[in-house]
Amino acid sequence: MSSEYVELHAHSCFSLLDGAATPEALLDRAAELGMGALGLTDHHGLYAAIRFSIAAQERGIHPIIGAEVTLEDERHLVLLAETQQGYRNLCWLLSRAQLDHEKGAARLAWAHLPNHTQGLIALTGCRQGVLAAPLLAGDRDGARRQLAELRALFGAEHLYIELQHHLRPDDDALVADLAALAHEASLPLVASNNVHYARREGYRLQQVLTAICHNQPLRACRNQLYPNSELYLKSGAELAELLGAYPEALAHTAEIAARCQVDLNLRALAIPPAADAGDADARLRALCEAALSRWYPTGEAAARAQLRHELQVIGQVQLAGYFLMVWEIVAWARERGIQVRGRGSAANSIVAYLLGITNVDPLEHNLLFERFLSTETRTMPDIDLDFCSRRREEVIQHVYERYGERHVGMVCNYVTYRQRSAIRDVGKALALPQELIDRLAKSQGKWGLPAEELESFAVSTQTWEQYLALCEAIQGYPRHLSIHVGGLCITAAPLDEIVPLERATMPGRVVIQWDKDNVEDAGLIKLDLLSLRTLSAIDECLTMIQTHYGKSIDLDALPLDDPAVYDALQRADTVGAFQVESRAQQQALVQMKPREFNDLVIEVALIRPGPLQGGMVHPFFRRRQGLEPVTHVHPLLAPILAETMGIIVFQEQVIRVAMVMGQFSAGEADLLRRAMSRHRAEEEMARFRERFVAGAQAQGVAAATAHEVFDKLAGFASYGFCKSHAAAFAKTAYDTLWLRAHYPAAYYCGVLNAEPMGFYAPRVIVSDARRHGVAVRPVHVNLSGAICTLEGGGEGLAIRLGLQYVDGLGETGAERVVAARPAGGYVELEDLCRRTRLPRRLVEQVILAGGLDELSAASPRRDRRGLIWELGRLRYHEEALPLPLAPDGVALEPMTYAEELLAEYGSTGVAAEGHLMELHRERLTRARIGTSQTLARAQHGERVRVAGFVAVRQQPPTAKGFAFFTLEDEWGLMNIIVRPQVFAAQRTEWVGATVLGVEGVVQRAHGQINVLAERATKVK
Ligand SMILES: [Zn+2]
Ligand SMILES: [Zn+2]
Repeated sequence: MSSEYVELHAHSCFSLLDGAATPEALLDRAAELGMGALGLTDHHGLYAAIRFSIAAQERGIHPIIGAEVTLEDERHLVLLAETQQGYRNLCWLLSRAQLDHEKGAARLAWAHLPNHTQGLIALTGCRQGVLAAPLLAGDRDGARRQLAELRALFGAEHLYIELQHHLRPDDDALVADLAALAHEASLPLVASNNVHYARREGYRLQQVLTAICHNQPLRACRNQLYPNSELYLKSGAELAELLGAYPEALAHTAEIAARCQVDLNLRALAIPPAADAGDADARLRALCEAALSRWYPTGEAAARAQLRHELQVIGQVQLAGYFLMVWEIVAWARERGIQVRGRGSAANSIVAYLLGITNVDPLEHNLLFERFLSTETRTMPDIDLDFCSRRREEVIQHVYERYGERHVGMVCNYVTYRQRSAIRDVGKALALPQELIDRLAKSQGKWGLPAEELESFAVSTQTWEQYLALCEAIQGYPRHLSIHVGGLCITAAPLDEIVPLERATMPGRVVIQWDKDNVEDAGLIKLDLLSLRTLSAIDECLTMIQTHYGKSIDLDALPLDDPAVYDALQRADTVGAFQVESRAQQQALVQMKPREFNDLVIEVALIRPGPLQGGMVHPFFRRRQGLEPVTHVHPLLAPILAETMGIIVFQEQVIRVAMVMGQFSAGEADLLRRAMSRHRAEEEMARFRERFVAGAQAQGVAAATAHEVFDKLAGFASYGFCKSHAAAFAKTAYDTLWLRAHYPAAYYCGVLNAEPMGFYAPRVIVSDARRHGVAVRPVHVNLSGAICTLEGGGEGLAIRLGLQYVDGLGETGAERVVAARPAGGYVELEDLCRRTRLPRRLVEQVILAGGLDELSAASPRRDRRGLIWELGRLRYHEEALPLPLAPDGVALEPMTYAEELLAEYGSTGVAAEGHLMELHRERLTRARIGTSQTLARAQHGERVRVAGFVAVRQQPPTAKGFAFFTLEDEWGLMNIIVRPQVFAAQRTEWVGATVLGVEGVVQRAHGQINVLAERATKVK
C-alpha cells in the first residue's frame, strides 16, 4: 500500500526538548504507513540529518532534509533543501541564526535571506508561522505583506502555504483563511501535521519534554503545551478527513518530496588542498621513500612492498592530501619540541609510521592495514594524535591558522539522557517529591524502590508506573550539546556550508552540529587532537635529562628489549608508568610476566572492562601458563587467533573472523565492527548475526557453533582495542618504564609536574620515588621553583617539590614567590610577606608545608607554630605591613614531628620525607600488626593483620559488589580484596577511613599477594 501523502514537517528528538521521537521511530512509523518519503525539520538544526538519511535509506524511504527556523519576529518558517545548493544555503542560514544570538536562542534575521534562498523550498509553518500567526491575530494585511516578502525571496515555484489541522476549535477558520490567501496570491497549498511524535501515545513524553525545556512542572506550563494529542505521524487518509476540501494540498506533498534531491555524502568537500600545491600522491611517495632508509636500514624489501601497497590504496581512495595534512601538523609540532604520538588504527599503516605520525613499526608487529583503510572503506580513516597536554592548544591554534577559521570546527558531543538525569528531569516535570527523586537517583542498578518505601511518599501506583515508563522512554534522547574532547573537523569548502555551526558552552568556542559518528558517516575529515598528560611528563623528563646529564634521548630509536623494563613489568613495579600502573593491570602483569613487546601489547588490549566482563582474561592466562590447552571453537579460527592462544583480543581479529567464518567482505566486516562498537540497535545486530550464521553454515560450520562465535565477537567488540592502538599505547608504556628505570629522578619529577594524572595520587608517587632511591625534598621558599625541580648532581639528584604543590597557591601564587625572591633568598617571614604580598592564608599554607623551616643553611631550623604566631602578630594585610616588630617573648610549644607531617599532607597533599604510617608505627608494632614487608613473606592461607594509608579504593561496577583497596605503608603497597558481605557489614569503616587496618587471609597466586579481608579494624 503506498499513499500519496508525504509528511514534510516532522520534529525528532533533535528538536531538543520538543520532539518526542527518535528519527528511527518516525521512519519506522512512516514505513508502516507506506510513506515513500519523509521530511525532517528540526528546530534550527541538522543534528540528525546524517543519521536520518542513513536510517531512511536502510528502510527504502526517501529522506528530505530541512529545518524549521524562528525568525527575529518570533514567527516560524519551514525550509526544505531541494538541491545541493539549497543544502549549502540551509547550513549557512542556520549557522547565522545560531551564531548571531545567545546559545539556545537562535533567531534568523530576514536580512540574511536574500541571496541565500536558492535551492530551498519554503513552507509557511505552523500556528506560529509567518502567515498563521498574523491571521490568528486578525492582521490579514500583515499576513499579505509577509507573503509578498516571501514570494520576492523564494519565488512562486518555491513557496507553499502550509495547512495544518489539529482539531482545535479555530482550525477550520484558520485553514480557510490560509487557503483564501493562497488563492488570492496564486500560490500552491501544502498539507502537513507538524509531527512531534511517531504515535499518538507519544504526546505524554512530548509534554514532559516541554516542561523540562521550560524548567517547570507540567501543571505550571499549561500555556506552553499543545492542547491535544494530534501531532503524531498521520496517514494520508487521516489527513484527508481533516483537509479533504483541499486535495491539492495533500497531492503537493509527494511532488515536493520528489523535487528534493540532496546527497549527503560530503566527501568531495572534505579534503583541504594539500599544504603545497602539486601532485599530492607524488609528494607523499617522496616523503615516505626519504624516510624508508632511516627506519628500515636492512630488510627494506618487505617495507618497500608494504609501502607500495598502501600508497596504491591511498591513491585509489584519493587520500594523499589527508596524509599530507596530518604530516604537516605533526611535523609542525615536532619542530617546536611538542611531544606528539599517533594512536588508534593509524598505527596499522607504514605510511603513518614513515611520516612520523605513529611510532610503532607495523611490519614488526604484524598489524593489519585493512583495519585502517581499504578501497572498500566508505568513510574517512581516523587518525588520533596525542599531544603534550600543556601545549595542545598551540597545535589547535596552528590548525585554525593554517586552514582558516571558516574551514575548521570542533566536533560536538550530544549529551544524552541516562538513568540519573532522566529520573531527575522527568521527576521534576511530574512534580514528584524531591526526596523521592533523590532517593531513586541514588539507588543504583535497576529502576524502582521497595514498595514500603514508595508508600511513605504517597505516590499513586499509576503515577509511579508512568514515571518509570517516561524515564525509560527518554533514555538516549539528546539533552544538550557539548564539545568533543579534541575532535576537529577540517574541510575544503567553508564549514558553514557543509554543516550548521553553533555556539559551544565554552565562551568564544564554536562547534559543528555533528558528533564524531556523524562526521565519519558524512565522509568528512575528523582529526582528534587530544591531550595526554603522560606526554607532558615525558616531555619534561627529556628536558631534564638534557639539562642534568647532557644527553638527548631519541625515544623513537629505543630498542624494545631492555631487561630493566621487563623486570619491572614482571614484578608489577609500575607505579607512575603509562597504562600499566592500575591495580587490575598489576594483577595481570604478574600472571602475564611479559617477556617481549608483543606481550605488553596483548596486556594493554586485554586488561579492559570488555574482555574482563566477557570472561576472556582468565582463560587467556590459564592458557599462557600452560594450565589449559589452547583450543579453538572451530578450526577456521586457528590461524587468526594463534597469536593470542585462541582468545579474541584485538578488533582486527573480529574483522578477520567475520571475513573467514561469516564470509563478510573486508568492508562489511568493518561495518560489523563499527556497529558493535557503537552499540547499534538490536535489529541491526540481528541482521548481522543472520548474515554471519548463514555465511558460516555455507562452509559447513554448525549453526550452534556460528552463534557461539558471534556471541563472542559481540561481547568483545564493543570494548575492544584495535591491535595498533594497543601497540601505540604499549610503546608509550614502554617508554615511561624505560625512562623510570634509567633516569628515575627526572621521570618522577616529570610525573609530579604533570599531575593530576594516572591512577595514583601524588603522595603515592612520592613514596614510590623514594622506594626507587630518589630523595624528595619539601617545599622551600628559597629553593623551590614554581614546579618540581631537580637538585644536586649526577647520581645524587633529588626532587625538590614545587611551590605549586602548596594548597591554594596555584600557578600565579607560586610564580609570584619565585619572581619576588631576592638574589640571596628571603631572609625572614616578613621579608617574604612584604615582597610577595600574598594573602595571609596562603602564607600560612607555605609555613605549614615547611617552606620556611630552614631559610638558609646558616640559620637555625624554625618552628612552624612559631612562624604562624609571628604571622598573626604582623597584623599582616596584603597592602600595609607595619615593620619591624620586636619579639614578644611568648613561649610556644614547637610543632611535633607528627603535627608537621600532618601539616605537610594538609598543605601539599604529599609528605616529601616522611610517611603518615610512621605516626602509627609504634602502636601498630606493639599490637603486632604487620607491614607490607611482613606481608611479602607471608604464606598462602596465613591469617594476617596489616594496616596502611588508603592509596586507592575501587568498587568497579563490573566486580559484582567486590571492593578493592590498595594500602600503602612506609615500605610499599598492599592489595586488599573485600567481599560484598564483608563490605556491607562494615560499610562506614571501609568507606570513611584514610588509614585502614585489615584482618584477613593471605592469598598467593601467580606471584601476586592479596589479603582477602574478613574485617576492618580501627587504627587510631
Ligand atoms: Zn513551528
Ligand atoms: Zn514545527
